[in-house]
Formats: sequence, structure tokens, C-alpha cells
Amino acid sequence: MEEKHIPYETLGRYLAGKIDNDERESVDRHLKDCAFCRQDLTDAQSWQPLKPDRPWWRFW
Ligand SMILES: [Zn+2]
Repeated sequence: MEEKHIPYETLGRYLAGKIDNDERESVDRHLKDCAFCRQDLTDAQSWQPLKPDRPWWRFW
């Protein structure tokens, strides 16, 4: 368990709120101790504006 990092797919669901409580708790706990996954989460957050359902070029 201690060497297992959080997959991007899980981080994406975490950010989207499509994650159950048990899983979110384990993600939260892992993020507290893991700078590596916190960086991944930051990266994943930076993708959010590029989601196809919110095309950025529409705002130009
Ligand atoms: Zn990690």
C-alpha cells in the first residue's frame, strides 16, 4: 500500500467528484504524505479547462 501511487484516472474522478467516500478518503490520506501525487493532481487540474465540453476558443 505504501508504494502504491494514485493513477491519473482516479485523480480525474476525484477532481470530477465521481468517486465514492471510501476512495476519496484514501486519496486524501495519500495526498497528505505524497508530494509526487500532489504534483500529479495539480497537473490533472490544469487539464480541466481543456475538456472538450468547455472549448476555450468559444470565449475569444
Ligand atoms: Zn503517491
